[in-house]
Amino acid sequence: MTVYNFSAGPATLPLEVKRTIEQELYNWNGTGCSVMEMSHRSKEFTDMADENEALARELLNISDDYAVMLIPGGARLQYSMIPMNLSSPKGQAIYAINGHWGKQAIKEGGRFCQATSTAPISDDVYASIPEFDASKLNADADYFHFTSNETLEGVQWHSMPETNGVPIVCDMTSDLLTREVDVNDYDMIYASAQKNMGIAGITFVIMKRSMIGHSENLLPTMMNYKTYADTRSFYNTPPTFPWYVMLQVLRWTQAQGGVKTIQAMNQSKSNKLYQYIDSSDFYMNKVAKNCRSEVNVPFWLKDDALNAQFLQQSSESGLKALKGHMAVGGMRASIYNAMPENGIDALIAFMKQFEKQNS
Ligand SMILES: *Cc1c(COP(=O)(O)O)cnc(C)c1O
Repeated sequence: MTVYNFSAGPATLPLEVKRTIEQELYNWNGTGCSVMEMSHRSKEFTDMADENEALARELLNISDDYAVMLIPGGARLQYSMIPMNLSSPKGQAIYAINGHWGKQAIKEGGRFCQATSTAPISDDVYASIPEFDASKLNADADYFHFTSNETLEGVQWHSMPETNGVPIVCDMTSDLLTREVDVNDYDMIYASAQKNMGIAGITFVIMKRSMIGHSENLLPTMMNYKTYADTRSFYNTPPTFPWYVMLQVLRWTQAQGGVKTIQAMNQSKSNKLYQYIDSSDFYMNKVAKNCRSEVNVPFWLKDDALNAQFLQQSSESGLKALKGHMAVGGMRASIYNAMPENGIDALIAFMKQFEKQNS
């Protein structure tokens, strides 16, 4: 039976990438060792790191005005590093909140600077992006932070926010590489790898070089962006295996035709699923149409009493990890880059059958 893994993260990897990892595990690049056992200072490893950076720059069209860094600690470490590096206890930072991760970001940010939100923060499940008047934002704020795709709620920005000139920082953990972005519109972009760029253990950070190294705070060396920018992320022993997997995923992404082609595939996949959900009286998606996510599709059964049965039967049919996040309820299909269109077809076929049997 073919298994399709709809996990929100760590998420499904391309089959080809898993095969390569398997083939190279005992003998990487003719070294007779696995990549996990090599010095990070060896030529083989540093060559690999060079290719990884070059490929990331090519795929995302990142100019030399930006440093790229690989930092351990996940996206959540960035929630602390960003205010520690870019703001100060008296400095102001503005957060736009449209879901769970944004709430976590402002909560952590508020420990290190004056963190304010563009609109009152709601306790309800977000189903849209709250509007705000950009002209009223403090133009002297140190940064404006937003989450381009809220992974739990499936709420995604489809245009750039207006920020009254405030530098823009974006958590793109669940949608970097899934669609085209103009990096030049941002001052910083970050994404932990386990959604579309590989496996857990590293966070990919793109940062305008002019933003780096101006902190007035006393920072731990390992939490200063300058450390990573100056050493090309080789200050200490980096998580070498996640780096290696990231390169395999980037190569795969390029082989698909790059980000533009991937975006078209993601749009086709998500459109299909939303169309079916909208056409059915049995399922629903509550997110406003102009900010529906192309990569995380939450949906609810009209009758919650059927949830357990839906999850059990879908899992038995090879459709894994469809349970929605606790905070949101219902179901969620995470359909990142590595989810093939066949997976969407199989999911829709199952949903149709389940609807027939239960309505
Ligand atoms: C998964 C996710 C996170 C959390 O990432 P960690 O690497 O676990 O810290 C943060 N933000 C978004 C948008 C996510 O999807």
